[in-house]
Amino acid sequence: MAYPELCMIIDGERVTGGGRRTHAVVNPATGETLGELPLASAADLDRALETAARGFRIWRDSTPQQRAAVLQGAARLMLERQEDIARVATMEEGKTIGEARIEVLMNVGLFNFYAGEAARLYGRSLVRPAGTRSTVTWEPVGPVAAFAPWNFPIGNPGRKLGAPIAAGCSVILKSAEETPASAIAVLQCLLDAGLPKEVAQAVFGVPDEVSRHLLGSPVIRKLSFTGSTVIGKHLAKLAAEDMKRTTMELGGHGPVLVFDDVDVDQVLDTMVPAKFRNAGQVCVSPTRFIVQEDVFDRFRQGFAERAARLVVGDGLDPASQMGPMANPRRPDAMERLIGDAVARGGKLHTGGERIGNRGFFYRPTLLSEVPLDADILNEEPFGPVAIANPFANEEAMIAEANRLPYGLAAYAWTQDAKRQRRLAREVESGMVGINTTMIGGADAPFGGVKWSGHGSEDGPEGVQACLVVKAVHEG
Ligand code: NAD
Repeated sequence: MAYPELCMIIDGERVTGGGRRTHAVVNPATGETLGELPLASAADLDRALETAARGFRIWRDSTPQQRAAVLQGAARLMLERQEDIARVATMEEGKTIGEARIEVLMNVGLFNFYAGEAARLYGRSLVRPAGTRSTVTWEPVGPVAAFAPWNFPIGNPGRKLGAPIAAGCSVILKSAEETPASAIAVLQCLLDAGLPKEVAQAVFGVPDEVSRHLLGSPVIRKLSFTGSTVIGKHLAKLAAEDMKRTTMELGGHGPVLVFDDVDVDQVLDTMVPAKFRNAGQVCVSPTRFIVQEDVFDRFRQGFAERAARLVVGDGLDPASQMGPMANPRRPDAMERLIGDAVARGGKLHTGGERIGNRGFFYRPTLLSEVPLDADILNEEPFGPVAIANPFANEEAMIAEANRLPYGLAAYAWTQDAKRQRRLAREVESGMVGINTTMIGGADAPFGGVKWSGHGSEDGPEGVQACLVVKAVHEG
């Protein structure tokens, strides 16, 4: 399948060329340029804002049935187009084609869930003296500026578009310039399913220019951002200038607590594939393996063996179990972080090097006994590297899990039911998986605490985050 011609979609029009600046989109498996992406000018962004204002007036008055029909129709189209969309995502981002197909299916599930949620936006009526009335209603917040990163080229735009549309908002999406065709494919499904062209648009550009322009406009009433904590803090400050609402899905540093009462092989068979999914470029990726001393050696050895066996290659090759990293910044970051860990006395068991000189491949890596002040144990590595360290007991393991300012996803493996409950309560994290890596779902809130952000996507909470409450009192 050919890679599509790249464009923005503003007021329903496919915007290309026209002397605009462009960004070269690169296939991370080959390093080859797939296409040139047009970048928005200030005039393009103004046009998108004016359209979003009109789109909001149209869509806030839509019925739940209209919203549901669009979301369900888009889900059906995504399913029909699954293979094409998945291939485009793999070409631009590098993930295996199997992961890309699953990403389409997850988005289909989310759109269908949101279709149901659109019909469940309730208000309430207060008890008041006869002849008077007080009601509490939820209204769509207004036009949303949504920024989606490259690591889930289908799922991130789907989340950013689905919730505002279910709530009755308009939305301007700026997905990552590195994975634009997947985002356009998701938006196209919504437009083809009957979404009015003014309601959802896609722009690309120089990220700082776009975010300053959109967040500087009074038209935008909400910021929704997924990305790094550093950029998230910067954008939250811009949003605060105009008291805009925010949903912030930021970085994590997933702790995994492995206690000595578990079947180590079973844990490894689950956690190793989870670690290397999307080459570790996942905000909920399991990263810090906090292992109880008695099982530490077995865990470390089993992890290294499984990681070394993984087949790394072009994501379009069905034999590949892990693709390349998404862009050249990531292998550079791996080299820096792993080099620092080893220089400080950490042990390297497998990986720790690039593969070949074509594309951005990096070997699945295991480090152990890394000092806690190493950079890799303090900043999100966002790559195919796991760090395993031994700890004596539950108290020390929980302290390590909570040591960092991040709190997105945490995992724990233990057979002890009382300990499971203690962990669920004590670990500071927006999502906790106990004896599982399945911590998401269309019906479950997805989001973090502390530096991992605030607000949730998915679940009823995702739609609720696009609403504001109004109390009306009639005398
Ligand atoms: P980055 O922080 O520069 O970019 C992350 C995303 O934010 C990209 O999509 C980018 O286009 C966007 N962005 C950057 N500056 C922006 C701005 N001023 N306004 C609006 N959007 C902006 O980093 P990167 O090199 O692409 O990725 C590195 C780090 O980002 C990773 O180490 C990871 O911590 C984080 N990240 C997190 C997620 C996530 O799912 N939470 C996804 C991708 C990247």
